[in-house]
Amino acid sequence: MADQKIEVLIVGAGQAGIAMSEHLGTQGVPHLVVERDRVAERWRSWRWDSLVANGPAWHDRFPGLEFDTDPDAFATKEQVADYLCTYAEKIDAPIRTGVEVTSVRRNEGRPGFTVETSEGTIDARYVVAATGAFQKPVIPAVVPAHAGIHQIHSCSYHNPQQLPDGAVLIVGAGSSGVQIADELRAAGREVYLAVGPHDRPPRSYRGRDFCWWLGVLGKWDLASPPQGAEHVTIAVSGAHGGHTVDFRSLADDGITLLGRAGAYTDGVLQFAPDLRANIDAGDANYLSMLDEADAFVERTGIDLPEEPQARALGPDPDCVTNPILQLDLAAAGISSILWATGFAHDYGWLQVDAFDENGRPRHQRGVSSEPGVYFLGLPWLSRRGSSFIWGVWHDAKFLADQIAIQRGYLAAYQATSDSDTDDATPRADITEPQPVC
Ligand SMILES: Cc1cc2nc3c(=O)[nH]c(=O)nc-3n(C[C@H](O)[C@H](O)[C@H](O)COP(=O)(O)OP(=O)(O)OC[C@H]3O[C@@H](n4cnc5c(N)ncnc54)[C@H](O)[C@@H]3O)c2cc1C
Repeated sequence: MADQKIEVLIVGAGQAGIAMSEHLGTQGVPHLVVERDRVAERWRSWRWDSLVANGPAWHDRFPGLEFDTDPDAFATKEQVADYLCTYAEKIDAPIRTGVEVTSVRRNEGRPGFTVETSEGTIDARYVVAATGAFQKPVIPAVVPAHAGIHQIHSCSYHNPQQLPDGAVLIVGAGSSGVQIADELRAAGREVYLAVGPHDRPPRSYRGRDFCWWLGVLGKWDLASPPQGAEHVTIAVSGAHGGHTVDFRSLADDGITLLGRAGAYTDGVLQFAPDLRANIDAGDANYLSMLDEADAFVERTGIDLPEEPQARALGPDPDCVTNPILQLDLAAAGISSILWATGFAHDYGWLQVDAFDENGRPRHQRGVSSEPGVYFLGLPWLSRRGSSFIWGVWHDAKFLADQIAIQRGYLAAYQATSDSDTDDATPRADITEPQPVC
């Protein structure tokens, strides 16, 4: 692949890269997708064995292809990965796997970018960073490595057998934390779960899944997070056929709930006295969605069965009324800490003027401040759904339009200019086809 030229280079062949390829293909824009691992790798190796999609198959998909499964079922991680491979094949996406992009630099005195890869240099007019929001696992520097406790991030967790014998502390109660806690408890482990601020929508209400409710209530399309909710995680689960995450039932199953994890000193971990507040705020979020759903039914007159029992919340468990504020990990028998604390960006390879002073991508709907560079797959890129399978497809469509518009300007320049520089010449897609999966 040494010294190739390409019109658009897409970095990453997860759902974002595939969606981008589809829309550029539809516009007839020559492009290449490079992926350092395999197509949809993250769904294969960065998820635990039993993971299923958080949304039902009818919802968590691209518009152009249905899952080969019951539409109301929750696809397994392998089914999602296979779906994305099938999709890439269906749209004939020009993908090169096993190619890592190591640097992207703006060309001097001419348009485009010089891209260094593990397989040679590519000269690209436009670059789409489709490496997603989940690039680097975050483990807060709380418990030192020499504390003698096995510590892993949720993206390295595969199954209960992988962890050493003993109790497990899970930090983070978003979708990953609660599902892994549930699995470990069911496998007979003693489990402690540190719960921070969260939303916990009902899995379903009045016979409709929450993905449907968020859609009809316009919440997937919110352009920015509600005030104060920027860092609130969402606790949902498609496990066991899908159920509402309820911290009371997790406690009833024997999981000890704790507040947010704090400082660690001499084997003792502190927890904030915020468990009750976090549970209450999660309940309020849950109940407010029921209210909004009821108001929608009343306003539209659609025929959905009432479900008053959904409003019945059980009594608070003892661990909520008498919260543990510090834990001697050894005394509690905790041999492992599993950090379900999310991910950070890793754009070290993208050496262009597209980041703010804190290193965050600077962009509007994915169009970055560096002309010719685009971001895709980031949370809230344009809307709430942006980092999810169905949302990224719409953002990719918008970005393909933006690239087509810029190409139009260049073509107009070319038509009126005497210049016959290579820079104004549309570049051919000279990539050789490669089997996708
Ligand atoms: C545990 C978990 C469960 C989730 N469940 C759902 C769900 O049920 N439904 C849903 O809609 N969303 C879900 N998501 C959110 C999101 O859909 C996934 O994280 C999805 O993988 C994001 O896709 P992506 O294409 O943006 O990024 P990724 O899937 O992360 O793909 C990016 C690709 O870029 C490649 N790459 C990175 N750097 C380079 C480089 N320098 N050179 C070449 N290649 C590179 C990586 O190898 C990777 O394959 C979940 C996320 C997590 C963490």
